[in-house]
Amino acid sequence: MKILKFGGSSIGHKNGFEQILKIAQQESENCIIVVSACGKTTDNLLKTAMLAEMQNTMYKTVLEDISTYHIDLIRTHLDPQNAATSIGFVREKLNEIELLLESIYNLQEFSNKTYDNLLSYGEIISSTLLNTYLNENGIVSQWVDSRTIINTDDEFSNAKIDFGTTDQNIQQTFQDNQNYVLGGFIASNDNGVTTTLGRGGSDYTASVIAAALDVKELVIWTDVNGMMTADPRLVKNAISLPELSYNEALELCHFGAKVIYPPTIIPAMKKEIPILVKSTFSPEKSGTLISKNIDNTRSVSGLTSISDVCSITIEGSGMVGKPGFTKKFLGILSDRGINVIMVTQASSEHGMTMIISPEDLDTSLKSLNEELKYDLLEKIIDPIKFETELSILAIVGQNMKNYHGIAGKTFHVLGKNAINIRAIAQGSSENNITTVIAKSDLKKALNVLHEEFFEEDIKKVNLFIVGIGTVGGKLIEQIKQQYDYLAENNQLKINIIAIANSKKMLFNQEGINLDTWQEDLPNGATMELEKFVDQIVDSNLGNSIFVDNTANYEVADYYEKCLSNGIGVVTCNKIASSASYERYRNLKALSKKHKAPYLFETNVGAGLPIINTLNDLVKSGDKIRGIKAVLSGSLNFIMNNFKEGTRFVDIVKQAQELGFTEPDPRIDLSGLDVKRKILILLRESGYKYELEDIKSNSFLGEEYFETQSVEEFIQLLEKNGNEFDALRQATEAEGKKLKIVASFQDGEAVVGLEKASHDAPYYQLDGSDNIVLFYTDRYVDQPLIIRGAGAGADVTASGVFADIMRAVS
Ligand code: ADP
Ligand code: ASP
Ligand code: MG
Repeated sequence: MKILKFGGSSIGHKNGFEQILKIAQQESENCIIVVSACGKTTDNLLKTAMLAEMQNTMYKTVLEDISTYHIDLIRTHLDPQNAATSIGFVREKLNEIELLLESIYNLQEFSNKTYDNLLSYGEIISSTLLNTYLNENGIVSQWVDSRTIINTDDEFSNAKIDFGTTDQNIQQTFQDNQNYVLGGFIASNDNGVTTTLGRGGSDYTASVIAAALDVKELVIWTDVNGMMTADPRLVKNAISLPELSYNEALELCHFGAKVIYPPTIIPAMKKEIPILVKSTFSPEKSGTLISKNIDNTRSVSGLTSISDVCSITIEGSGMVGKPGFTKKFLGILSDRGINVIMVTQASSEHGMTMIISPEDLDTSLKSLNEELKYDLLEKIIDPIKFETELSILAIVGQNMKNYHGIAGKTFHVLGKNAINIRAIAQGSSENNITTVIAKSDLKKALNVLHEEFFEEDIKKVNLFIVGIGTVGGKLIEQIKQQYDYLAENNQLKINIIAIANSKKMLFNQEGINLDTWQEDLPNGATMELEKFVDQIVDSNLGNSIFVDNTANYEVADYYEKCLSNGIGVVTCNKIASSASYERYRNLKALSKKHKAPYLFETNVGAGLPIINTLNDLVKSGDKIRGIKAVLSGSLNFIMNNFKEGTRFVDIVKQAQELGFTEPDPRIDLSGLDVKRKILILLRESGYKYELEDIKSNSFLGEEYFETQSVEEFIQLLEKNGNEFDALRQATEAEGKKLKIVASFQDGEAVVGLEKASHDAPYYQLDGSDNIVLFYTDRYVDQPLIIRGAGAGADVTASGVFADIMRAVS
């Protein structure tokens, strides 16, 4: 004899009956088939009662839907000849339900006793219909009314089984030479009044029967391929677990893995009956085997969660050292039948936190305040505190005790992702580590921990990109080209979750399609920075990075918000790091505090590793004493190309078109851009400088920068072309070249035009190249030189890409 249990998700599916038939046909032994109500029938019945209790006549519509749903099931599956009888049967049951609902409506009362009576119809109907269907299709089976065999106490809605009577009934009812179909979940008390075993209780019925008959195997057929490393609805990458011990399964279910009703494990475990969890829709897959002796060396078997819980915290110095408080608090709740899901106590004994279901909060607070009123009055305990909107997340594994650092790893990963832990508990069995976190963090927490424990080899990074012009466009192109390579060789998956330009923004939690983003973006929502950033925060994904490819002040204004929410910032925009020193320090501090990277290598020398080299020097104890640098690829390009036969204005326009200058070339030509760069280098070297501290001797007069628009500026350059020619000719006559050089020496930083002689290291600097010379305590006479392409969309995009990679490493 074998026990097969099919859940609502199986029997209520459009192919459910057929699949169950196929599975039953393949069994060589006779089976006892235990079923739940079809689909969401139990939930819907509950809905009708709640509406009726509030005197809302909408209950009739919901009841009508339940009727239509079942009649459709009959019409699609049953032989037309039997269909009429079955429809008649369903209508009769629905009439009984209607009478029940009318009385709930009139009395405005929905007792637990009525609850059990009402909900039992789901299983009575489903089991009767399935039994008819199986018999029509060659499986000879007998329908059994579970209420006549499963005997319970009077605790309606959550009745406890009387095993003495129940086991006897089971052994007398079921014979080896016969198949049976019956509804799970429902039972009756000594007076024959219907009771139920708790939501999800069909699994339990099946296990109780399996244990009473001491069968070889219990199979729980559901809609997923066994128990998984996490709830697949919350963690997309969850994988099936081939085997679990009873204890592991118990812990996973206790803390929320809905796939099995927790009490189910016990009867099977006592008789050492293996439980197989399989998918009704992929029966060929092996599913999960839950048994006593499992052979695994995994440190963690699965993650599980209860999404909605509350905490009650009782603290008070009067409790210290006085035994009995814990027992007293728990006793108060237990007397009210309240299930305490988790308890944590500070080692100082100064406080205790109990985690309960939200529906128990009011009663718990009322009874604790009432029964502890003298302790409160005498200030032995402080006023009782509570918190709502919390979730429990448990990490389960029977081998956890044999591994060091699981807790450390857990807290590190949660901390790195800005997830605050409200309470922690580790069971003495060391089979689980349980944390309480904000409900809004649950999905993120599950996913980052899942990545850490089950996808160790694959890292994911989620990008939110603002600015998709020259640099941003190239970056997306590079990510697209590198995607497969990185996934395969670096085990890194880069998901671009959002992109935006100044007009539109596009979000896709599953990742933007990199083949069609250009066509898709115009159909996105209107770009509003505030909303864009709010959406990043709300997405609450792990390893999130805000990528700023603009030169925009407003975009940079959101870095603080991102970093404060644990979202990394990678930017080629210099505005923030060259703003006031206070702001720069604050951004660095936020980055440190929230463990969110703030990287801006491309602020100086595009993709050249200037800031990183500097950081390495400083970190290893070196001190920067002097800097000499040609830091503007754009100015260098302009100066290098301004030759005999060219016009200065044309070269500026060309540099602008090639993306070598900032969108507004005045920022380059005024020297402001270079000032910002040397400022950033000085700050990264540990010097507290402001922009005003950097001297500038621009070769262009004030009037150029008082122009109202870029066009006006270009016109002025054109008008004064002769002056530039004269300057060039004079420099060439001396055998020198014009360079805009930034220098720092003896505490003084200057940016200005220099006529470089041929022995200057930057005399030969080509095209848009940059050069930086660092003079340090270690590099005294021979400076450390970094030289290479320092401008252009491609190299800047590569630099941004490199920072992204650094952020996830
Ligand atoms: P049934 O109708 O078969 O009783 P349930 O809906 O009660 O099915 O339970 C199956 C569901 O449990 C799955 O569809 C899945 O979404 C959810 N679930 C939650 N945690 C897990 C887990 N760790 N492994 C597998 N499924 C899980
Ligand atoms: N139908 C019941 C419920 O939805 C029992 C079960 O599905 O196991 O809770
Ligand atoms: Mg279930």
